[in-house]
Amino acid sequence: MDQPKMMHVMFAVALAATLVTGAARAEMGAESFTMTPLADEMLSNPITLSDKCDGVVVREWREGEPGTEATRAAIRVMDRLCNRALGAFERFTDRHGLERVHSLPFSWSVSVIPDGDCYRCLNDLTYRFSRRSAQIEVWGYTSLTHRFIFILNQVQVNGKPGLLWQKIWVHELFHALSMYYGIFESHAGTDAKRVKIDERYAKKFEVEVLGK
Ligand SMILES: [Zn+2]
Repeated sequence: MDQPKMMHVMFAVALAATLVTGAARAEMGAESFTMTPLADEMLSNPITLSDKCDGVVVREWREGEPGTEATRAAIRVMDRLCNRALGAFERFTDRHGLERVHSLPFSWSVSVIPDGDCYRCLNDLTYRFSRRSAQIEVWGYTSLTHRFIFILNQVQVNGKPGLLWQKIWVHELFHALSMYYGIFESHAGTDAKRVKIDERYAKKFEVEVLGK
């Protein structure tokens, strides 16, 4: 008999907490459903990578755990791996018979953000990412419409390049390259089928670049 009451109380407490949060947010202004960074989330000095990746621009960098700041070391990790990935891309597409529809230098935007379900974080499925195709928790997401990679901020973990992060970065870069060079849209079938095909290539590309 006590159990349902208890649950009811807990529900009431949870509801009160929600209302308080809602009220606090309302004071700050309406929640935004915009996927790309808002004006106050944009870096005042966007981070541009080098060489083959000089068209890759990090427009947002939000820290999560301690040690996830946009330090020079962290940016170097992104830059090196991006250049390795772009170096391998042509060889990879040739070997798999994937046709690039143009040869313009690659350009794409990136948001590095905490991976939780907090407001405006990578898995905020209530607001920021309520309209993305993958309505599940992800570590990275590449948007064709916005020409953006959204990726979790674990560029460095305990001062070393994040192992998981490196895989995700190479993986999302493949999707971005595939979209940019018209490969994604050349895959046969429906949108869902294209996503599946691109996913298979992205996983092979991780192995191509990272060797595992
Ligand atoms: Zn993928």
